[in-house]
Amino acid sequence: MFTCWLGRLCRGLSTPTGRITHLIHGSHSRRLVLSSQRRMPELSSFVARTNTCGELRSSHIGQEVTLCGWIQYRRQNIFLVLRDFHGLVQVVIPQDESAASVKKILCEAPVESVVQVSGTVISRPPGQENPKMPTGEIEIQVKSAELLNTCKKLPFEIKDFVKKTEALRLQYRYLDLRSFQMQHNLRLRSQMVMKMREYLCNLHGFVDIETPTLFKRTPGGAKEFVVPSREPGKFYCLPQSPQQFKQLLMVGGLDRYFQVARCYRDEGSRPDRQPEFTQIDIEMSFVDQTGIRSLIEGLLQYSWPSDKDPVVVPFLSMTFAEAMASYGTDKPDTRFGMKIVDISDVFRNTEVGFLQDALSKPQGTVKAICISEGTKYLKRKDIESLRKFAADHFNQEVLPVFLKDNRNWNSPVAKSIMEEQRSELIRLMDMQEDCVVLLTAGEHRKACSVLGKLRLECADLLEARGLVLRDPALFSFLWVVDFPLFLPKEENPGELESAHHPFTAPHPSDIHLLYTEPKQVRSQHYDLVLNGSEIGGGSIRIHDAELQRYILATLLKEDVKLLSHLLQALDFGAPPHGGIALGLDRLMCLVTGAPSIRDVIAFPKSFRGHDLMSSAPGSLPPEELKPYHIQVSWPADSKGKELLNEPYHPES
Ligand code: ASP
Repeated sequence: MFTCWLGRLCRGLSTPTGRITHLIHGSHSRRLVLSSQRRMPELSSFVARTNTCGELRSSHIGQEVTLCGWIQYRRQNIFLVLRDFHGLVQVVIPQDESAASVKKILCEAPVESVVQVSGTVISRPPGQENPKMPTGEIEIQVKSAELLNTCKKLPFEIKDFVKKTEALRLQYRYLDLRSFQMQHNLRLRSQMVMKMREYLCNLHGFVDIETPTLFKRTPGGAKEFVVPSREPGKFYCLPQSPQQFKQLLMVGGLDRYFQVARCYRDEGSRPDRQPEFTQIDIEMSFVDQTGIRSLIEGLLQYSWPSDKDPVVVPFLSMTFAEAMASYGTDKPDTRFGMKIVDISDVFRNTEVGFLQDALSKPQGTVKAICISEGTKYLKRKDIESLRKFAADHFNQEVLPVFLKDNRNWNSPVAKSIMEEQRSELIRLMDMQEDCVVLLTAGEHRKACSVLGKLRLECADLLEARGLVLRDPALFSFLWVVDFPLFLPKEENPGELESAHHPFTAPHPSDIHLLYTEPKQVRSQHYDLVLNGSEIGGGSIRIHDAELQRYILATLLKEDVKLLSHLLQALDFGAPPHGGIALGLDRLMCLVTGAPSIRDVIAFPKSFRGHDLMSSAPGSLPPEELKPYHIQVSWPADSKGKELLNEPYHPES
């Protein structure tokens, strides 16, 4: 397995041969061919080995090789298994007196020590082949060995099947990186990024441009990390994204920009977030939504791992309103049905109190989802916990309705609902005998949100009980479009904030509403969703300075002085432009099927933003803070440094 994945990764790179080749001299005066269109990467150029451990096969029998790697394990002082990034190979420890010094090195070096061995590739004796090992037909008859470095007692074994807490893995990340899984994730990430670069720069003329990380505050959007400067009271901010720079690059005539961009957001802890993360950041001039969407579909198709089902384009598309109404979220998981259905009309003349109540209100609705095979897989306690979840998190009453009498659920309300509206419900919800319908009532957005959440909870429950609802090999991409331009501010619903960011252009058919009913304006913002996770978002931008000023100052009540450079730039012949950013960490997490985005990042932060390996962030003595004119004011109940102690678990 260890070798197969590298083979797969390498094959992903293969292209027709026959392009320009140059001869150059390697570090060991080995002549090597460098080809701009090489079929397979040269894995042993410039270094002390002749081959990688994982590449040796029967075709190498008789060859003299030098290998470098870590001792994976040793069997009875006769065999040793050597590992490098490419795979495992069996080494025969020489037993004869004349090779006593080699035997001593190979038998005494602790596991995970680094050794260099030279010897001959031989075939394993008949019956001793290991078909589970890609190198299982051969072994190395060692002639010389050198201990390059020894390994002390490890905090955990370097074997994927050995369980370890994530805190320990993060504390010794450099050891954790030796695991098959981490090696695979990081190498696949590198491959995909390489393909993306190739697609963008070589096939479509994009320019890879770095933008600053020391910047200033941007109004609206996420909270930014602050960096002190030596000027009293002056601070840089780390950019939450290169948004302003990429727009300014369009004003600068760069026309097609991309960057593998590091972004920083001081947003607190969320399971699928990191305070610093990576985006594939893109901007184009003279483009519309369709252009950006086709570019991204092509980009993903081109960079998609070749061992997975090919990406089918164009992706499905859905309006924000439709996503909210049918899935209760702006990032629907479209791998399964169980959509939300509006059943208000069925209950117009209901006798049931809470439904009557809801429908008598101006925005009142009754909504439901239908869980196929629910009676088979869900227990009474599951339904109770779903109802409790709705009550605790959304303050919403949720009622289960069954087609047949349910011995487990003797609710007179549920029963009377079924009797009264039986045939209509069966028709609207496409109800089968084994279905459970979950019903709720209230204002449209709220009823949809709670059912959207329950839909996902039910999917998890059903899958935990053995039903396969979401095919693990399926990647379901979806564009969500026609978002509102503004949303009411969470902390002050009377005020507006941008649904995406303040540079997003309004939908051309809604521009007139900007001056009368701004809440009704749709935007030219699009999100890319994959299996229920947002993996990208972007928009066509405002390129008219007046319109940008009006939105910032009048509608969003932002201080336009902070953005005077951008407003001025728009006034100097800014081309129409638009762009998008793909969240690389989240994308890789989904592609690799990793349980957390931390598993696709070499050195991630813990849930609380700490680096468990180096203990960052760290404290600085007052004299080092002085040049920045900064003094720490410790919270009254703390003893200073103790505050920096990391909690035990990265998710805590
Ligand atoms: N800068 C945006 C973001 O980081 C993406 C974009 O609008 O291109 O979400």
